[in-house]
Amino acid sequence: MSQAYKVDLAPVDIEPYRAGNTGIPFVTTFDSGADGPHVMVMAVTHGNELCGAIAVEWLFKQEIKPKKGKLTLGFSNWRAYQNFSAADPLASRFVDEDINRVWDEETLDGDRMTVETERARELRPLIDEVDLLLDIHSMTTFCEPLSLSGPHQKGRDFARAVSIPKYVVSDEGHAAGKRMRDYGGFGDPASAKNALLVECGQHWEKRSEQVARDVMLRYLSHCGVLDEDFVQENLWNTAKPEQKVIEVSGPYTITADQPLSWKDEYIGFEMIKKAGTVIGFDGDKEVTTPYDNCVLIMPNRIKGKGHSAVRFGRYVD
Ligand SMILES: [Zn+2]
Repeated sequence: MSQAYKVDLAPVDIEPYRAGNTGIPFVTTFDSGADGPHVMVMAVTHGNELCGAIAVEWLFKQEIKPKKGKLTLGFSNWRAYQNFSAADPLASRFVDEDINRVWDEETLDGDRMTVETERARELRPLIDEVDLLLDIHSMTTFCEPLSLSGPHQKGRDFARAVSIPKYVVSDEGHAAGKRMRDYGGFGDPASAKNALLVECGQHWEKRSEQVARDVMLRYLSHCGVLDEDFVQENLWNTAKPEQKVIEVSGPYTITADQPLSWKDEYIGFEMIKKAGTVIGFDGDKEVTTPYDNCVLIMPNRIKGKGHSAVRFGRYVD
């Protein structure tokens, strides 16, 4: 990668959390002993996304106890995270493949052996026990923070109940494979289980660690795990913006070998007025907006064939 990235965050040491207490490396469960949901916060699903590790490591140091139910803290792709280098910060997203595209049952039950399928299989029995999940991520571009609520109303309601960040993006996921947030009961509208994926800003901007902590605190407050007093004392930003929900109609999946060649410096949430506007080229094929007032979600400058270049959406409220 020839493009230089500014890295304003430093990775934290997660080695003290390797042993954990669940039999799964880098996964620790705190049990209140009282009835209540099993609530999870997951960090480093992508190894180069530091803000989640910083937030979860901070929470460990607070020595909190859940008020009810169980709280599990995990570092998903810890192997990728431990390869992080500020000199080449994109390189540690994963080891063999994206662990957030392997959560369909066929892949989990199948025989593809990669670092990530093996880690997902190791995590799976625990994830099956989790009622509420927050999966903390960050983005390549300097896009405003957003939560990915999945396609169902229950996910949008959950995002609204957590109350930050401002943007809620309701989407189906990617052609390349299922995300953890859509796995099992999380993706079943009839199940009481629920999950949010939060994108806290650009991967290495200082703001992302503040957003990650704030979303985690508000999520844990909503789930009844933490006292509101503790949450209020530790928020970086106490403001609650008016939330906006964007419904994604679908991703544009890249067909050429290389990333899209964009017509402009899109970072995300640009609204393109006219249907049919050319926004970039997939190889020599024009990529156009499918409808009027189309919002561009998480344009991607790095990934090629079979991956999502961008998702198209519209404001629904
Ligand atoms: Zn990510």
